[in-house]
Amino acid sequence: MPELPEVETMRRGLQPIVGGRIVSVVQPEIPYRPIHIEPDFEVFQNRAVGQRIVSVDRIAKRVLVRLESSDSIVMQPKMAGIAMLSDPPSAQHTRMVFELTESTVPRFLYWDRRGLGTVCLWSPEQVLAHLGPTKLGPDASIVDEPVFLERFTGVKRPVKVALLDQALVCGIGNLYAAEILHAAKVNPTAMCCEVTKSKWKRIHAETIRILNEAIENEGSTLNDGTYRNAINGEGSYQNKHKVYDRASERCPSCKKGTIERIIQCQRSTFYCPVCQR
Ligand SMILES: [Zn+2]
Repeated sequence: MPELPEVETMRRGLQPIVGGRIVSVVQPEIPYRPIHIEPDFEVFQNRAVGQRIVSVDRIAKRVLVRLESSDSIVMQPKMAGIAMLSDPPSAQHTRMVFELTESTVPRFLYWDRRGLGTVCLWSPEQVLAHLGPTKLGPDASIVDEPVFLERFTGVKRPVKVALLDQALVCGIGNLYAAEILHAAKVNPTAMCCEVTKSKWKRIHAETIRILNEAIENEGSTLNDGTYRNAINGEGSYQNKHKVYDRASERCPSCKKGTIERIIQCQRSTFYCPVCQR
């Protein structure tokens, strides 16, 4: 968290900055260890200040602010970061502020409660090296069915673990993997290569449906309240979760099973043992 729908919501929220020009880049003085910034702050500043913003894009779980120089400011929220326009949830966790001119909004900022995220200024070659097709699979919210099936069907790993592998398909994280497999009625511990083709078609269809429905709902704001949209509002997809973080509750789909929590690769997996056999 944040995953594809939350980062896509950030990208959409930041659209008003397109056309604006960066007049300053500031790292507010806060009582925490600084986040990872690349290159060094002075170099970053020199390359960003004066630049016009030509677009705001998303690759996997990162927001890219593209500059006229062809550099990109790449914000990776990791566990608890947000790219936003205004009203950060807490002032002391605002990590970087980009002041704008010739823009309908005065600034955008990167806020991060846990400080695990990163902000990098990358050339097109660096973007390609870090986020190109050798590192990341196709975007999970739009990937075609034949490509999706081709990527997963022969894999000798559990389905849930493979869905989190960004090199196969990118953008799915722990929360949406659980919801996708529940909707597709597939057991998260099943090996990819043993899941039938018709079930893989269901997993693909539910991946597209759930991610896009979550985008429409501006993502999921969990009980920790960390994830917000670009103007500090909540997402609403958390109200539609069926299994994520609902261990020991009655399954809302079959109304027979009890949601279980298991650990796969050090991550929690939630599923219903009755309708996800
Ligand atoms: Zn069930």
